[in-house]
Amino acid sequence: MIRFENVGVRYGNGPEILRDISFELEEGGFAFLTGPSGAGKTTLLRLMYLGLRPTRGLIHMFGEDIATLPRRRFPDMRRRIGVVFQDFRLLDHLTTFENVALPLFVDGKRPSEYADDVMELLSWVGLGDHANAYPPVLSGGEKQRAAIARAIVGKPRVLLADEPTGNVDPALARRLLRLFVELNRLGTTVVIATHDHQLLNAAPQARIMTIRDGRLTMTAGGTP
Ligand code: ADP
Repeated sequence: MIRFENVGVRYGNGPEILRDISFELEEGGFAFLTGPSGAGKTTLLRLMYLGLRPTRGLIHMFGEDIATLPRRRFPDMRRRIGVVFQDFRLLDHLTTFENVALPLFVDGKRPSEYADDVMELLSWVGLGDHANAYPPVLSGGEKQRAAIARAIVGKPRVLLADEPTGNVDPALARRLLRLFVELNRLGTTVVIATHDHQLLNAAPQARIMTIRDGRLTMTAGGTP
């Protein structure tokens, strides 16, 4: 589903942030991406959501080579990828409901088609009572859950999350992790960047991808 071959990235004329990254993630897999701050976790996620092209190497997503994929195919490709950004990127002038529904709205679907699904999803992430609230009045954890709901509303085949438990207490972090595990159980491939070791221990079935000094090592991942 996702295959990297000898991928390298540098920003401008700087040093190579990622070097010779090669790995393959199978469909339905669950992986944590970890490593010290500044190691390149966000950079690797950006490559996976087509937010950045590699300086060298090959990236295959859903069987297609990203490097040669024409830009006009990006929206179609991105529709299959849900992203939870570290800074949420919610729009303050839209309600929680409208923020979560945005990918469907932008896709040309009508509110009457998706209203029930979006409300159900909001309940699933514990935001059923906040559908009409605007992001500025939500707590950090609520914003995080709204960002997660928006990332999965279009039923992506891959979910990428950048430090999705970075702003919440340990109890909520475990709850969010259960959401990701449940989503994975339903068939979504999940990649979570985190430096929270407790989170790593809470999902023993996950593969662990570690970036250090620009290189990636990967554990096989056990059975649940
Ligand atoms: P992590 O997510 O593991 O903290 P990042 O991928 O954010 O790491 O950053 C990896 C390195 O790349 C850091 O040294 C960071 O300063 C650098 N970097 C990230 N984004 C940019 C950018 N847009 N331009 C220049 N350097 C960048």
